[in-house]
Amino acid sequence: MNYKKYFTFSGKTIVYIQTVALIGSIIGAFLVPWTFSWVLIALLFFYLYSAVGVSMMLHRYFSHKSFEFKNPILKWIFIAISVISSRGSPIAWVHIHREHHAYPDTDRDPHKPGKFSLFSFKTTYIKELKIFLIKDVLTKEQKFIHEYYLLFILLWCISLLLINPLLFYFGWLLPVCINQIVQDLWNYFSHVNVGYRNFETKDNSRNVIWLWPLILGEAWHNNHHNSPMYSTKTRIWELDPVDFLVRRVKL
Ligand SMILES: [Zn+2]
Ligand SMILES: [Zn+2]
Repeated sequence: MNYKKYFTFSGKTIVYIQTVALIGSIIGAFLVPWTFSWVLIALLFFYLYSAVGVSMMLHRYFSHKSFEFKNPILKWIFIAISVISSRGSPIAWVHIHREHHAYPDTDRDPHKPGKFSLFSFKTTYIKELKIFLIKDVLTKEQKFIHEYYLLFILLWCISLLLINPLLFYFGWLLPVCINQIVQDLWNYFSHVNVGYRNFETKDNSRNVIWLWPLILGEAWHNNHHNSPMYSTKTRIWELDPVDFLVRRVKL
């Protein structure tokens, strides 16, 4: 079977998506009204993409398979949110993330420890396909999502545009652009010596308090490397809203 087609498409399209989001956000910033309600809407969409789409679904559901939904309809609604969060194909995301967990803080780590750059598109590419990392996610459903995820994102954007062009800006362009920056910050700062450790893991993962307002429970990254479950919480004050949400929808 030619598995290659399940990842080559992703690297290029995520670059297109992020470039559109970045340029669109900058140009749009001079054209849109910066009212309190529109900023609030942008914030809500940002957390929808970042916390639900990426953290809960791409990370804890798809990559770590740390929970299963009790309701199949709900499962597909959340899968749709993971696709419109515009981080590329879930299969590719899982590959990159599992590579990170398999070779953390080494040359083989796709997040390149110690090298920070905003819009680091290179980290979205898979250099060498390792089928053993993603075999379990190459299901019929996932292959279908992989083939058509860009179409779903386009349909989502068109729907927002038709409702209100400002909703397209504050509901997709801006939050997707900010989410890219936040993901870059997370990938870098959760593995440098700026936070604290609850566990002596073999990697350099850290819990970074100041990242919490941006990525919520994912800030407790050392806890996560120690035990990649649906919750990242270890100490009582290490709040993890995604854990709260997962507990309400899981089996
Ligand atoms: Zn890590
Ligand atoms: Zn993980």
